[in-house]
Order: sequence, then structure tokens, then C-alpha cells
Amino acid sequence: MNQTANAIEVRDLVKIFGRFQAVKGINFNVKQGEILGFLGPNGAGKTTVIKMITGLLKITSGSVLVSGLDTQKHMDLIKKKLGYMSQKFSLYPLLTVLENIEFFGGISGLTRKELREQAARIGAQLPAELLRQRIQALPPGIRQKVALFVCLLPDPEIILLDEPTSGVDPEMRRKFWNEIYQLKKNGKTLLVTTHHLDEAEYCDRVIIIHNGEIVWQGEPAELLQQNRQTSIEELFKEVISKHGQN
Ligand code: ADP
Ligand code: MG
Repeated sequence: MNQTANAIEVRDLVKIFGRFQAVKGINFNVKQGEILGFLGPNGAGKTTVIKMITGLLKITSGSVLVSGLDTQKHMDLIKKKLGYMSQKFSLYPLLTVLENIEFFGGISGLTRKELREQAARIGAQLPAELLRQRIQALPPGIRQKVALFVCLLPDPEIILLDEPTSGVDPEMRRKFWNEIYQLKKNGKTLLVTTHHLDEAEYCDRVIIIHNGEIVWQGEPAELLQQNRQTSIEELFKEVISKHGQN
């Protein structure tokens, strides 16, 4: 049997801020080549989990393996495998798209030659006139698309997108998900967080997180079928209200 390997393994992961336990010992895997949707309302713990995977936030207890490597021991090796688009918009608004690509490519450790090649490859996917525009002049949907391309500069195997469609209109959200599919088609693994529950349907598998705990995981179709609900939104409310009664 050709069992799919795990790109990411999260084991008994805990994050405590002061006295507040933001992540309460969660376990899940992201399989190689899949799109895993990480869903939950604001404050659920999505960003905290992603930041622990990237090593930006120290793990309180538990572990995260990326391609079988422990993030608390081998971050130097893992860094090259991970692409991360943070929830907080991180491009420089006063620089042009091309200047941002050059800047972030430069600090991501690419050689000049690699950077030129990658910038040309990514530039080719964006309209030429866009490359000369300042980030601040772009609508949110296009900005997010540029932020995605910038996070892809080092050509990472595993891509973590934290609320990439937040503040983006529905039409652009659909286009953004097309980009995500394209990445999957090219063999990438994706972990995508969202609080737009309708986006669950774009994912291969979904995890619902609430108050730092996983309250449901499975396939989106299964999620709807099992619960005979008309929408993920309805179901989401139900899952959370049941969970809150414990
Ligand atoms: P989400 O990304 O799902 O909206 P977060 O991971 O940002 O949720 O936050 C989870 C919880 O942890 C929230 O209650 C938030 O207020 C809290 N939290 C996040 N970062 C910190 C921090 N640096 N210090 C204290 N509490 C934090
Ligand atoms: Mg968040």
C-alpha cells in the first residue's frame, strides 16, 4: 500500500500565554499534497498553531514535525521547506510589487541568480503594469495575490496561508482559491486557515478549531452529510454549541 506521507504532524501541541491556554493539546496531520482547511472563529487559536509550526512562536509543550523533522531541533533545515503568508499583511505599501519581490526574495536566502529566475517566473504570472504599481494602490484581493506570490519565492514544498482571503470580496476569494488549486496541482501541500466557513468546500480535509481545541475533522462532504445540515455555517454553530456544553 502506498500510504500518503505526512507533510506536517502536530502532537499534543499546547500554547500557554501567561495563564491563558490558547492551544489545548491538539493532534492532527497534514498529508503530502493535500489542501487542509483550518477553520474556526476569531480567537480560536489558528494563528497561534501556524506560528508554532513556523517556529515564530515557541511551543509550550508537545511537538511539530515537518517532513519528519522536529521543528524544535531542525528549524534550519525546515525553513527551506516552508512558505508562510501571515495574517498580518507584511508587504511594504510604499514599494512597488517588483521592489517587494526583490526585497523579500533577497532576505529569503535566494542567490541573485535564483532571485532573478524566480522574480521572472512570478513576474510572468502578474500583469506587467502591476509590477510597477505601489502595493498601497492595489485592491485587497490583488494585494493578497501578490503576498501569496512573494511567499512562494523560495519555491517551498509546504505552504501555510493564514487567512489569505480575509477582507477579500467573494469573486476575488474564488480566484484566490484557484491559485491554491494550481499549487496543489504542482504537488504542493497547503494548510489554509479561514473564518469563511463556505471555504471548507474548497478543501480536501477540514479541521474545525474552537477555543484552542479541535472540535471536528474530516472531509467537507462528510461534514455536511453526517450532520444533514444545509450549510457548513449551520453545522459550525451546532458543533461549537455542543462542544461548549462539556
Ligand atoms: P485565531 O487566529 O484563530 O483568530 P489566535 O491564535 O490569534 O486566534 O488567538 C488565540 C487566542 O490566543 C486568542 O484568545 C488570543 O487573544 C490569544 N493570544 C494570541 N496571541 C497572544 C499573545 N501574544 N498573548 C496573549 N494572548 C494571545
Ligand atoms: Mg488568526
